[in-house]
Amino acid sequence: MRVITSKAEMKAFARQTRAAGRSLGLVPTMGALHEGHASLIRRAREETDRVVVTIFVNPLQFGEAEDLARYPRDEARDAAACETAGVDLVWAPTVEEVFPLGASLARPAPGRVGDLYEGAARPGHFAGVLQVVHRLFDVVGPSMAYFGEKDAQQLFLVRRMVAEEASLRMRIVGCPTLREPDGLARSSRNASLGAEERTQATCLFLALTEAAERARAGERDGNVLVAVMAREIGATPLVKLDYAAVVDDATFEPIGRIDGPARAIVAARFPEVRLIDNLLLPEPDA
Ligand code: AMP
Repeated sequence: MRVITSKAEMKAFARQTRAAGRSLGLVPTMGALHEGHASLIRRAREETDRVVVTIFVNPLQFGEAEDLARYPRDEARDAAACETAGVDLVWAPTVEEVFPLGASLARPAPGRVGDLYEGAARPGHFAGVLQVVHRLFDVVGPSMAYFGEKDAQQLFLVRRMVAEEASLRMRIVGCPTLREPDGLARSSRNASLGAEERTQATCLFLALTEAAERARAGERDGNVLVAVMAREIGATPLVKLDYAAVVDDATFEPIGRIDGPARAIVAARFPEVRLIDNLLLPEPDA
């Protein structure tokens, strides 16, 4: 496995891979790799010939109030994890490689959905996400790109960007959320939870599964499911609910009445850590 920083080397690797008739799988990350990332890498290995992991903590997607400097970074550990997972190439570029000063780069607009939920909590976040993802896609060129359903709104916006810009020639693969045994979605942020916080962090998954059970039992009123989730998270002492919502899975817009694929989404805050999670709601049992 090679670890590179240069964009030119990344381009050369992608070019050689395609010239040899091999497919390329791209797994974009911000490092601090965990089993969730590893599951994306495994999927990419199953479906493509050469797997590239990018490690880039994108300054554009952090708000002013968010501490970019505090984001966990450990390149040696991440490289070892990639090696173990069978990655072919790690591209860990500098900010200058990705966003050269003076370069006029595409700035895909996240649109209305970009201002909802995570976008409302983190203004400018999705504009930053789409700009870096577009840039990575430009450099790597036509390939399969693997994203986690854990960040469902991000996955939705990346899919829509690719659908609207045929020249990107990417295939986006959404991968299921990997969870701890008690249901907590794996996340780099979990490591910052205290012991009692960690125990209470299951409230996000509990809220989602409760909403899913009600949906399975036939509840079609999105507002009822939202209330169920808000109650569960609201009853957890160390956590503050940020939002709970039910969205149309095809548009990511909030819905009142469920009459097709719908997704429950939640975000909650501990004093120092903000967590998000989501679940596709089941169809009612016949
Ligand atoms: P990040 O490093 O947080 O930007 O995440 C990189 C990719 O890993 C994104 O596509 C995430 O959605 C995905 N990811 C993060 N956590 C998980 C998880 N628990 N299960 C599956 N994918 C995940």
